[in-house]
Amino acid sequence: MKKQFAVIGLGRFGGSICKSLSEQGMEVLAIDTNEDKVNEYATIATHAVIADTTDENTLKSLGIRNFDHVIVAIGDNIQSSILTTLMLVELGVNHITVKAQNDYHEKVLNKIGAHKVVHPERDMGVRIAHNIISKNVLDYLELSDEYSIVELIAGKTVHGQSLIDLDIRAKYGCNVMAIKRGEEINVSPAATEYLMNGDIIIVIGADKDINRMEHDLFDDED
Ligand code: ATP
Repeated sequence: MKKQFAVIGLGRFGGSICKSLSEQGMEVLAIDTNEDKVNEYATIATHAVIADTTDENTLKSLGIRNFDHVIVAIGDNIQSSILTTLMLVELGVNHITVKAQNDYHEKVLNKIGAHKVVHPERDMGVRIAHNIISKNVLDYLELSDEYSIVELIAGKTVHGQSLIDLDIRAKYGCNVMAIKRGEEINVSPAATEYLMNGDIIIVIGADKDINRMEHDLFDDED
């Protein structure tokens, strides 16, 4: 059976989630107080309704309890976001993801029982900053204050060398999770696997170690 999602708030963030889930063939209920927004998504989502989700009876009548995952993407109105989340928690929704507007908002959402809190502007800012600082870092995912997963582009320095030649695990304490070459992805590559100019490698490790490795092996001059 298809998974059922509800997206509350159809701003840029909620709207993009709604579109993407629909494109991937999921059942999506799109909800907003704004009639224009709801009309905009009527042909994209499976259903689109005008509703104020701060009203408990409205949530109950939508059968929100039965959805596999509810995404709260109400932005500016922090009070509505918190109230909606609180009611979703009380109604026993299985998975609740909420967009936070700032750190205080995030704290409150975690306290009241949101299962996942996302902070897209802040997180995207961090990722883009890493990408700007180093042209070899294609993407960056912060796991904690100290650990990350990064996508690095292989250049001349590592071309034709195997993971064992480069001794990445012993020298840098980092693990290569995958090597992407064109359309092909080699997940958990063997130590004998070699790298080629243009490969993308996905590495997990401590930030300080990743930085050291990136500086030694991936910081090619053009
Ligand atoms: P983005 O940056 O993603 O565009 P935003 O942070 O500007 O979003 P808003 O525009 O404030 O977010 O809110 C997103 C949507 O949530 C709006 O379309 C708004 O009508 C809707 N919304 C606000 N309050 C409620 C509510 N109580 N119930 C349902 N929808 C709501």
